[in-house]
Amino acid sequence: MTHPFLDLAPLSAARFAAIEDRVARLLGTEQDVVIMQGEALLPLEGAIRGTAGPGTTALNVITGPYGQTFGNWLRDCGASVIDLAVPFHTAVTADQIREAFAEHPEIDFVSLVHAEAATGNTNPVAEIGEAVRAHGALFYLDAVASIGAEPVLPDAWGVDLCVIGAQKAMGGPAGVSAVSVSERAWARMAANPAAPRRSYLSLLDWKERWFDGGRKTLLHAPAQLEMLALEACVERIEGDGLDAVMSRHRAAALSTRAGAVALGGGLEPYVYEAGEAAPVATTLRTPPGVNASSVVAKALSEGSALPLAAGGGSLAEEMIRVNHYGPDARQDLVESCLVALGTALAEFGVAVDPEGARRAVSAGWAQDR
Ligand SMILES: *Cc1c(COP(=O)(O)O)cnc(C)c1O
Repeated sequence: MTHPFLDLAPLSAARFAAIEDRVARLLGTEQDVVIMQGEALLPLEGAIRGTAGPGTTALNVITGPYGQTFGNWLRDCGASVIDLAVPFHTAVTADQIREAFAEHPEIDFVSLVHAEAATGNTNPVAEIGEAVRAHGALFYLDAVASIGAEPVLPDAWGVDLCVIGAQKAMGGPAGVSAVSVSERAWARMAANPAAPRRSYLSLLDWKERWFDGGRKTLLHAPAQLEMLALEACVERIEGDGLDAVMSRHRAAALSTRAGAVALGGGLEPYVYEAGEAAPVATTLRTPPGVNASSVVAKALSEGSALPLAAGGGSLAEEMIRVNHYGPDARQDLVESCLVALGTALAEFGVAVDPEGARRAVSAGWAQDR
C-alpha cells in the first residue's frame, strides 16, 4: 500500500537547490543559503563553531534564553566572550552595542537574537547592523522567531550569518533550517583550523562539496518530507504575500497587548514599550501573587488547544506567553486566549473585563491594517 508520507522518491539536487533559492528570495539575499537537515539549533551551533575560535573576541548579546546558549558555545570554542545582558522586558539598543565596541575595540564577532519568542521582545537589527558594520565585526543573527513575523533583511542589515527556521511564523516544519552566509563569513571559516569539517555541524562541507561544485551533488540523502514541507510553506507565504503574513502577526501582537490591558486585573504586557514587543508572541506579566503557570494550566484545563504557555525556567511564576504565530496569528484565537485567561484569572479572585478585552482585540486588529 502506498502512503502519502512514505514511498517518496529521493529529492533531486536540482529540487533541493530550487528550494534554497526560494528561501534566499524570502530573505532578499544574494548570499549563499545553506539548508540544513535539522532543527534551527543545528545551523545556530554550526555557524558559531565554524567562525569562532581562540582568536575570537565575541560580543554576545543576551535578551532571552538563546543568548545564554550562544555564549556557552562561543566559550567552548575558545573565544573570549563579553556578555551584554539586558532585562527581558526591553530590547538592546545600537548605542549599547557602540559602547561595548568603544570599551572593547578587539571585538570581532557579534551574536544577537532578533526576536525572542520566549520572552517576547525584539531587537532593532537594522540600527545594530550599522554599528556592527562600522566596527567591522562579523554579525551572527538568530532570526528563527522573526522570519515571517517581521522584516528580516540580512543583506541590507549587513548580517553575515542569518539563521532561520520554518516552525514559528512561517508555519512550516521544524526539522529543516537555513542559514545565509556572507563571503566574509566563508573566509572566516576557511581560515579557522577548528571549524567543523566532515561533520554534521559543518557549513564548510556545504561550501566545498555543494556550492563550489555548482550544487550538483548533495552531501547526504535529503530529508524529503521536511524539504517538501519547507517548499510548501514558502509557497504558501508567497501566495498570501509576505507583507500580508507579517501584517497578520503585527495585528495579533497589537491586539493581544491591547486586549490584555483591557482585560485588566493587573495583567500587564511584559515588554514595557510596544515598539520593543515581538510580533511573533506576546508575553504578559501576571498580577502580584498570581502564579502564571497555574493561570495557564487553568486556562488550558477545558481541553483547549490554545497557544498559551507559561514562561520558561524562573519566568514560569510571572510570565504568560501567547504564541500567536504561523496558523495561530488569527483574531479569533487571540480573543479566545484572552477570554480563557480572563476566566482563569477570575477563578483566582481577580476582577477582569472579558467584554472589554474582546472590544480591544477587535480595535487592535483593525489598527494598522
Ligand atoms: C524557537 C526558537 C529557536 C529554535 O529552537 P527550539 O527551542 O527548538 O524551538 C531558536 N531561536 C529562537 C530565538 C527561537 O525563538
